[in-house]
Order: sequence, then C-alpha cells, then structure tokens
Amino acid sequence: MAKKVAVIGAGASGLTSLKCCVDEGLEPTCFERTEDIGGLWRFKENVEDGRASIYQSVITNTSKEMSCFSDFPMPEDFPNFLHNSKILEYFRIFAKKFDLLKYIQFQTTVLSVKKRPDFSSSGQWEVVTETRGKEQSAVFDAVMVCSGHHILPYLPLESFPGIERFKGQYFHSRQYKHPEGFEGKHILVIGLGNSASDIAVELSKKATQVFISTRHGSWIVGRISEGGYPWDHVFHTRFSSMLRNVLPQMLLKWMMERQMNQRFSHENYGLEPQNKYLMKEPVLNDHLPSHILYGAIKVKSRVTELTETAAIFEDGTVEKDIDVIVFATGYTFSFPFLEESLVKVEENMVSLYKYMFPPHLEKSTLACIGLIQPLGSIFPTVELQARWATRVFKGLCTLPSERTMMADIIKRNKQKIDLFGKSQSQILQTNYVDYLDELALEIGAKPDLLSLVLEDPKLAVKLYFGPCNSYQYRLVGPGRWEGARNAILTQKQRILKPLKTRTLNPSLKSPFSFLLKILGLLAVVVAFFFHLQWF
Ligand code: FAD
Ligand code: NAP
Repeated sequence: MAKKVAVIGAGASGLTSLKCCVDEGLEPTCFERTEDIGGLWRFKENVEDGRASIYQSVITNTSKEMSCFSDFPMPEDFPNFLHNSKILEYFRIFAKKFDLLKYIQFQTTVLSVKKRPDFSSSGQWEVVTETRGKEQSAVFDAVMVCSGHHILPYLPLESFPGIERFKGQYFHSRQYKHPEGFEGKHILVIGLGNSASDIAVELSKKATQVFISTRHGSWIVGRISEGGYPWDHVFHTRFSSMLRNVLPQMLLKWMMERQMNQRFSHENYGLEPQNKYLMKEPVLNDHLPSHILYGAIKVKSRVTELTETAAIFEDGTVEKDIDVIVFATGYTFSFPFLEESLVKVEENMVSLYKYMFPPHLEKSTLACIGLIQPLGSIFPTVELQARWATRVFKGLCTLPSERTMMADIIKRNKQKIDLFGKSQSQILQTNYVDYLDELALEIGAKPDLLSLVLEDPKLAVKLYFGPCNSYQYRLVGPGRWEGARNAILTQKQRILKPLKTRTLNPSLKSPFSFLLKILGLLAVVVAFFFHLQWF
C-alpha cells in the first residue's frame, strides 16, 4: 500500500513536495491554512496571521530561468524577473498541469504533529488539523513541513532605546503594502536587506526624505549583469562555483571586492559592508544607488537612541522630525505544531541534517522543506529537497547514523559562520550550486560531466560554463525528463523572448550581420575573462 504523507503548506515548497510525492507513488494530503495556493507569493491588501505578507510591488530577485521547477520551464513570454502576480500564475499553471489541487485541503490549519506511540517501529505521525472550527486527527507515514519561514517578524525593539517615547508611527516591513499615505513624510528605514532597500526606494518617490540605517552595510548588486543577462545566469555557473572553491582566499576576496564596486564605490555611498569578505546575501536593487545619488535616500549608521521625534545615530548625527520608522529587520521562525525538540535553533544553528532532517528521530519520516536561504533561487532548491525526502520516506535512500548527522551539522554550521557570518539574517544561508549538487548526488540526479564531455560535448559545455539551472538535475537518475536537454539548450531563447518586443527592420540588420557575428565572438571571449572575475 502507498505510504501516506502529510504536506503542511501549499506555497512553493508544498506544491513541489506534492508533485514529488505523486512522482514517487506516495499518497499525499496537503493542509493549507488559507483558501488558496501560492504562500508568500499571493499578495493580499491585508496582513494575515500565520502567512507571509508581501508588499504589492515585490519582484523576484532570482530570474525566471533559474527559478522554475526542473521539468516545467516558465512560459517563454514571462519576463525575466517576475512580479509576484506572475509567480503566482506560474504556480497555478504548475498545479493545474500536474493536477495537484485535488490533494489540498484548504482552510485547514495543522495544529499538532506528534509521534505515534509505536513510532520507533512504525515511524508514523498523528496529525491534528482544524477546518473552520472542526478538529480532526489522522495518521500519516511521513510528514513534509512546508510552512515557510517569513511569517514571524523579527522586531528587535530592545535594541532601540527610546522607542517607547517615539510619537510617530512605526511598524515591521511585513505590514508595508504600498507607498500611498506616506506623501510628504520623513521616513527612517531600519536594515539593509532586500525588504529595506525595496521599501526605501519605493517610499522615496512619495516621501519628503527617506533615511536608511544600517549597522553592518551590504553589497548592493543589480539584476542586470554582463550583456544584459540576469545576474544569476552569470553568478551561478559550475565554473564560477568551482573557482570560488579552489582559488586562494586572498585572490577571491580581492576579486569579489573589485566586482562589487564595479558599478559604484560602496564606500563613497556609505554602504560598504563592515566585513567585506563575507558571502552574506547581497541586496538585489537596481535603484538604491541612483536614489542615493539623487539625495532621495540618505544612508545612516546604527540608531543609538530615539526621542519623541528624532533619531540619534552611532556617529553622533541626529535626524529630526521623523514621522515614520519601518523596521525591515527580517524574520524569525517557529513551528508551533511540532515538538520543540524536533527543529531546534541554538546559537544561530538549525539542528537539521542538510537543513532537512531532525537527526535524533528513530525513523526518518519527517523533513523540513524550504527552511533554507540559498544564495540563488529557492524554488529548484526546495524541489531537490522534496525529491530526496520522498525517496528517503520510500526507503530508497537512507540517512547516516545520528552521530554522523550531528557531526555534519556542526561542521556545516562552522563553515556557514566563516562564509556568511553570524548575523540573524544568515541563520539559514547556504551556498547554491554546491548544495544543489549535494542533494542531487543523494538521489543519483547529479549530471556526470566527465562522461558528457565525450558523449555530448555541446551539452557538457553548457552545463559547465552556462547557468546552473534546475533542468540539469533531470538529465539522469530518477525522475529523468526527456525535455531537459532541450530546455538547457534553448534557455537563451526564453530569456530573450520577452525582451524582443520591438521588431527590428531586417534591412537594417542584414548588412551588419557578419560584423555582429565577429563582435559576438569577441564578446564571448571578453565574457569569458569577465567570468573569471565572478569567482
Ligand atoms: P511560503 O510561501 O511562506 O508558504 C507556506 C505556506 O504554508 C503558506 O501558504 C501558509 O499559509 C501555510 N501554512 C503555514 N503554517 C501552516 C499550518 N500550521 N497549517 C497549514 N498551513 C500552514 N526566494 C527566491 O528564490 N527568489 C525570490 O525572488 C524571492 N523573493 C522573496 C521576496 C520576499 C519579500 C520574501 C519574504 C521572500 C522571498 N524569497 C525569494 C524567499 C521565499 O521564502 C520563497 O520564494 C518561497 O516563497 C518560500 O516558499 P514556502 O512554500 O517555503 O513558504
Ligand atoms: P533580512 O534579509 O533578514 O534583512 C534584515 C536586515 O535588518 C539586515 O540588514 C539586518 O542587518 C537588519 N537588522 C536586523 N536586526 C537589526 C537590529 N537589531 N538593528 C539594526 N538592524 C538590524 O530581511 P528581509 O530584507 O526582510 O529579507 C528576508 C528574505 O526575503 C531574504 O531572503 C530576501 O532576499 C527576501 N526578499 C526578497 C525580495 C525580492 O525578491 N525583491 C524582497 C524582500 C525580501 P545586519 O546585516 O546588520 O544583521
């Protein structure tokens, strides 16, 4: 009989988990507390308890070709970076194509997930849910926790002495929806993550003055990279990942600093990170530097005190007449339906094997999907996590001993602190290509580049020097997809399609086509050398 799996949440992680269960012949039931799919990506005017809340203008910071699920490219005409409504549209067509809606029980909140008394032999869980006031209980062979980690605001008011005296308005970025109503205000945004930068830029179009206060600074990069291609196409290649792993640290650091400062000097703009050499998640914002250049946004250091109307900063400067403070200070997470010991966070470390499995369980029948912040897109990451988890549940993959898992968790945490630092915002940070490859290796879906060099050199070159997209993990192994090779080779077409909305006069183009080809070849050579800089 097929094993029954409870999937908690119908966001990106829940939807891909559902599909993986079906692909593996498991019997899933998904519980979603709201009335619809999409999780974080379903914008609503009001903030809902228990669900992430985004502002109306959120656009992805990872591109469409790097963010799609591995056997389902996004429609060709979708833009390269997507408004939240487009991501939701993609989820809807994905759910329809793989007939996933029939497995979802909407308006059903998971209240508790507890081991059954015979857990050590059965590995089963008792899941208690509530649907419109009615409680129900059911037994499952496995559980996939896909409930997201951008629900609980991290609001460190204790670090802001005087906040109780402040007479203006203050709120967490989770409450922010759009800039209307902030006309003519003096606004202070705390933090320099993606939320802070997006909100500061948007508000600065309405407000009289926006200040952005950062204690550690950040690297700011644009969505557009060399040749106008999305940044992640250039940054996340196997080649650049290999360079990051093998080049001497000194050289890497020098290259990173040089690259980050290519567009503008972070030092001159007051944005330079305190520790320049951490691989902390960069801020993706095309407009922040220009808005600083216009003076619409002023960068300030850490706030040391607030008065009724003013903010005092670490460098002794004071900004008076502040009307609004937006705390874009990130998120914390918890799993109220799980026993605390299952998913522990201690000293900024999540005690999960490869960010997924609690190491102390007698049976490996529970996995967290999406409790991670990769340097690239989360969508292919959660998909590979779900592919692995479902194979573990089926007994086709086994986890190592508890001791080995604990040793790996401790080692990984140390590496994480060295790479990304200790900040609250980096607790879940991971590398991208390395982590994807690691997951793929577990299920036998990592492409073998050496044999490909002989069998299909054209594809091998794309895999190594091209963007490390999710299709790469459907070339071999379980869940192999016939269309994967073609999807890799035609990726450029799908990137360019939404850009080429103006038909160029062919008579203007033809005389130069030969010249263009020569230039194109030169560009490849130049891009190759630039590539080297993207360690
Ligand atoms: P969510 O989307 O949060 O979905 C969780 C679901 O679980 C929700 O539907 C919720 O209602 C449900 N749920 C929760 N608790 C329960 C319960 N007890 N019972 C039943 N249901 C429950 N990542 C990228 O890769 N690229 C981006 O461009 C990007 N942009 C982002 C922008 C913002 C503003 C934020 C905050 C994050 C962004 N991220 C991005 C990261 C983001 O986490 C992922 O894109 C993704 O949405 C996570 O999906 P998820 O399914 O894990 O969680
Ligand atoms: P975040 O990345 O966690 O950033 C939080 C910011 O708040 C950091 O700059 C942090 O500074 C600062 N901070 C935290 N505690 C502080 C304190 N006590 N005092 C002063 N500053 C403090 O949160 P986020 O920006 O909301 O982003 C959450 C996730 O959503 C990220 O993965 C992000 O990429 C994603 N996101 C994406 C988009 C998009 O796609 N367009 C938009 C928004 C968010 P330190 O670095 O000094 O700790």
